[in-house]
Amino acid sequence: MTPTVKPPAVSEKGTTPAMRQYLEAKRQHPDALVFFRMGDFYELFYEDAVTAAGALELTLTSRSKDRSGREIPMCGVPWHAADTYLARLVKQGYRVAVCEQVEDPRKARGIVRREVVRVVSPGTFTDTGPLEACEPSFIVAIARTCKGEQTVFGLATADLSTGELQVTEHAGAAAAAAAVDELAGVRPREILLPEDLDPAALPGLRQVVGTGGGTVPVTCVEPSLFDLERARQILVEQLGTISLEGFGLGPERTPAAIQAAGGLVRHLRDTQMTELQHLGTLEFRTRSDHLVIDAATFAHLEIIVGAEGGRNGSLLAEIDLTGTSMGARLLRAWLQRPLAARGAIVERLDAVEDLLRQVAVRGRLRTDLARVQDLERLIARVALGTAGPRDLAALGRSVGVVPALRGHAMELRAPLIATLLGRFDELRDVHDRIVATLVDDPPAAARDGGSIRDGVDGDLDELRAISRDARHAIATMETVERERTGIGSLKIRFNRVFGYYIEVSTANLHAVPDDYQRKQTIANGERYITPALKEYEEKALGADERLLDREQEIFDELLRFVLAEAGRIQGCARALAAIDVLAALAEAAARRDYVKPQVREAGELMLADARHPVVEGRTESYVPNDVLLNDDDHQVVVLTGPNMGGKSTYLRQTALIVVMAQAGSFVPAREAAVPITDRIFARIGASDNLARGQSTFMVEMQETARILHQATSRSLVLLDEIGRGTATFDGLSIAWAVAEHLATNPKSRPRTLFATHYHELTDLADLHQTVANYHVAAREWQDDIIFLRRVEPGRSDRSYGIQVARLAGLPPATVARARTILAGLERDELSRGGRPSFSGTPTEPVGQLGLFQQAPPSSHRDVAERILALDLDRLTPLEALLLLGELKEALAE
Ligand code: ADP
Ligand code: MG
Repeated sequence: MTPTVKPPAVSEKGTTPAMRQYLEAKRQHPDALVFFRMGDFYELFYEDAVTAAGALELTLTSRSKDRSGREIPMCGVPWHAADTYLARLVKQGYRVAVCEQVEDPRKARGIVRREVVRVVSPGTFTDTGPLEACEPSFIVAIARTCKGEQTVFGLATADLSTGELQVTEHAGAAAAAAAVDELAGVRPREILLPEDLDPAALPGLRQVVGTGGGTVPVTCVEPSLFDLERARQILVEQLGTISLEGFGLGPERTPAAIQAAGGLVRHLRDTQMTELQHLGTLEFRTRSDHLVIDAATFAHLEIIVGAEGGRNGSLLAEIDLTGTSMGARLLRAWLQRPLAARGAIVERLDAVEDLLRQVAVRGRLRTDLARVQDLERLIARVALGTAGPRDLAALGRSVGVVPALRGHAMELRAPLIATLLGRFDELRDVHDRIVATLVDDPPAAARDGGSIRDGVDGDLDELRAISRDARHAIATMETVERERTGIGSLKIRFNRVFGYYIEVSTANLHAVPDDYQRKQTIANGERYITPALKEYEEKALGADERLLDREQEIFDELLRFVLAEAGRIQGCARALAAIDVLAALAEAAARRDYVKPQVREAGELMLADARHPVVEGRTESYVPNDVLLNDDDHQVVVLTGPNMGGKSTYLRQTALIVVMAQAGSFVPAREAAVPITDRIFARIGASDNLARGQSTFMVEMQETARILHQATSRSLVLLDEIGRGTATFDGLSIAWAVAEHLATNPKSRPRTLFATHYHELTDLADLHQTVANYHVAAREWQDDIIFLRRVEPGRSDRSYGIQVARLAGLPPATVARARTILAGLERDELSRGGRPSFSGTPTEPVGQLGLFQQAPPSSHRDVAERILALDLDRLTPLEALLLLGELKEALAE
């Protein structure tokens, strides 16, 4: 028989009172799975049960039939293991409403009251386990509004597990794209949209990759949550201020930011059903504060996510030598959003330098930082009401390290360290109170008992004495009863059903005295109780129950105390995280031999002996290279050379060094001068990007278009084999036009590295003085090719395609045939007198086909140029006629 899967209406008669509670909870949270607490289990019913059984691989059972006589599908999870199951469901994108017993079953009259106490979803589930300690857990809300003619998107980001709250606004024509770019960098676990904002208004939203690597679930909510005035009010309330001016926000100036942040806070409060005291501050960021890295570039540079989708192989993994998870998350944030203000960058670099020099101080700091646990997440647990004694003990121990850490940091001189030290105190009161209250190694839950020290509370001590005495009396009773009855094997035991009992084996039953009352017969004997035994039992159990209540009260009081100090503890946690990152960057600089970059407002980008921070560690003899980019004769560097020569690596290392420098890190080079960069664009040719399975020629061209529109003279542009995704002539033409645009556009001439296998592009340098040619050196040796991996000035002499093909294992016969064909082609070309080129200047013959032989555009250009150069006022008719003849001849050639 098929079970009913749809839950009936709440009002339906014939349902039990508990079932009615369930149906009510389900009615309030139709889009969530309802975890319904019954005794030691959370039960799921109807379609929720079917879904959860599938998702969690649980056995689907059924509960007594409902009114229509059919069975109600059901499954359950033990409450003490609920977090693991919740984590698995949330990871699969489900939302779960946890419906608890909100009164003590022992004290309830009639049926226990149950209520939904929190709704967890991918972006709000904070018990993510130690594996993801270094990962933030972001939920992002997006609001859209109009400011005059302009569409404005507000983007608010919160991490419930740490209390972080930030907001930005994007306005203007590219607002939607910028918002999606930002989302991609954040890698949220959940996106929150008002129902009236169509996701289609944000192209690419659905493709954003989340923290876990998959797509991000989108939750649509009631638009009124984002109402401007409501949003402003809840923010003011949450932040405990009168207005939002102090945060740089105002209803007229930044409506979308207020709406997004307010809507998000309201949603979080509604689903967590607590005040979220740890969300006490808000950071408003503007785009110009940061080096902007669009989503594609961010992914391509493998800054925080490696090629395989995890941390492995990323820049972050390479330089993350932080000692705390708070530091690890902050370093990730620094790399995700490097700075754009020189002053702030230099402050960080100076602090790293200080820590690099002060080896002993750095060592002490790092040792002691390793003893600090995740204060941010511990405080969040306190605020969310999920902290147990073990969490508070960890918080107490960690806070105990603070005075020593302050002492070490005090020995440093860098201004940033002093600023950070000014943001927190030693927190001795917090430490002392926790350590004085809790035992050294308390249990996970206060209800387990034994977490409060003796001597903390008179009532508790007394109850413990009573409980101890009663237990002692029971323990001695065994000896007494054995003597009295002469039964040597008599035992006093305890179980949950009968409490304490006396057990006598069958052989000794004759010796049982009259005052023993028989309770149960078992296979090899009988179980008894006596009035005295029960009296002691009542004392012990009664005292136990009261002392657990008292322990809970004392623990709750301690929680309230800690919560009241949450702001101070968070201030400390955030400052320690920054010190941790600075010390880690200094450690990385020391171990990897990085140098302090000279960061300037403008000027040339000059790197001497630069290395790729990740590749250098994986290559036995990494070849360092110089980089020069300026506004003058090295504005566009065209880099040619054989496949596998090291072009892409060179491009990436240049960008990564800029990212590192602006994040405040030392860089892998002998010397580095880095001008402030506003944006980095990296575009990779279609075939190179095929592994990602996402690139088509269309996408390549869209991204290239975007670069041409958006890059400024302060941007860094990396173009790697663009035009590869189409036919050779098309590709070459596009590559040529793009490079030329970048080199000549008067409005913005970004610093550009242009790697290409199209040798023709080297002719650009003859035409435009802003373009310089470089190549990766390779030598031919017998029939082989040796990659020197050295970047040298000038154009590459040949393409070495056949040698590379041979290296790749093309069959010898095929390689030989290719050589013959090439030789033939080269001979043909030579007989025609060399390779024509765009510039019209004859170049020496090289081993590359002249692709544009049929239609050399050079003559057209020459003609045009000569016409433009004419001064018609001074030209006689005869001269004009002669010239016309000349030009016609030139075109006929
Ligand atoms: P291309 O883009 O020219 O085809 P890549 O940049 O992809 O070449 O580099 C090819 C290989 O050479 C990579 O596997 C890389 O590890 C290695 N490589 C690149 N640059 C260097 C270098 N400077 N020193 C040593 N090995 C390098
Ligand atoms: Mg390449």
